[in-house]
Amino acid sequence: MLELKNVCAGYRRLEILHDVSLTVGEKEIVSLIGANGAGKTTTLRAVAGIIKATGGEILLGGKPVQSQRADEIVRAGMLHVAQDRALFGDLDVIENLEMGAYSQPRSSIKASLDQVFDLFPILATRRTQRANTMSGGQQQMLAIGRALMARPTCLTLDEPSVGLAPNLAAQVITAITQIRDTGVTVLIVEQNASQALAISDRAYVIESGAIVLEGSGAELADDPRVRAAYLGT
Ligand code: ATP
Repeated sequence: MLELKNVCAGYRRLEILHDVSLTVGEKEIVSLIGANGAGKTTTLRAVAGIIKATGGEILLGGKPVQSQRADEIVRAGMLHVAQDRALFGDLDVIENLEMGAYSQPRSSIKASLDQVFDLFPILATRRTQRANTMSGGQQQMLAIGRALMARPTCLTLDEPSVGLAPNLAAQVITAITQIRDTGVTVLIVEQNASQALAISDRAYVIESGAIVLEGSGAELADDPRVRAAYLGT
């Protein structure tokens, strides 16, 4: 579904990603773990077209997207939920969700809203609340919900549980498995490696802009190098 082949990318002349290759199969959850500054966010930005890959290929459903604009990549079915969530703070829950459906036919909006409210019932009770008055956890749910309104085939999530109270983080993580179960492919970057690995079909470890380990979520959770460096055990 999503494939990176020898992707190089960075900022101006500074190359951050060096030949990053990874694949996310249809309906898989794949996580990318690594230390601060390893290049996790940069990888997701390259996939979303926010920064341009300077080398290699990014394939979505077999089609190269590395030369496409960010909005074209969204139309191709790839939605990115950034760490800062980028909500419309002065707009309410419904307005934010409807913004996410801008490329969809109006006739499909009700069904998409129902799907988001099934996943995050709290949003249904806060329909008219302005986004910037909501808690961090509710904002994260709204950001994921807004991405789902575009009916993605592939979703990338940048540290969705960062800064959330443990019970809210767990709710968000559970919702990610439910999203995958509806047929969406998920690439997730998480600071909380143990929670991410627990729900991942497969995972990659990135260090200094290069992939250094890959395996199933369970294999990496058991790997002594991962345990020492990322799980604090
Ligand atoms: P974190 O968890 O801290 O976000 P990360 O693995 O996501 O870590 P990136 O945000 O991808 O790391 O950063 C990788 C490198 O790119 C870091 O050295 C960072 O300083 C640098 N970097 C990130 N954003 C920019 C930018 N806009 N301009 C220049 N350098 C940047």
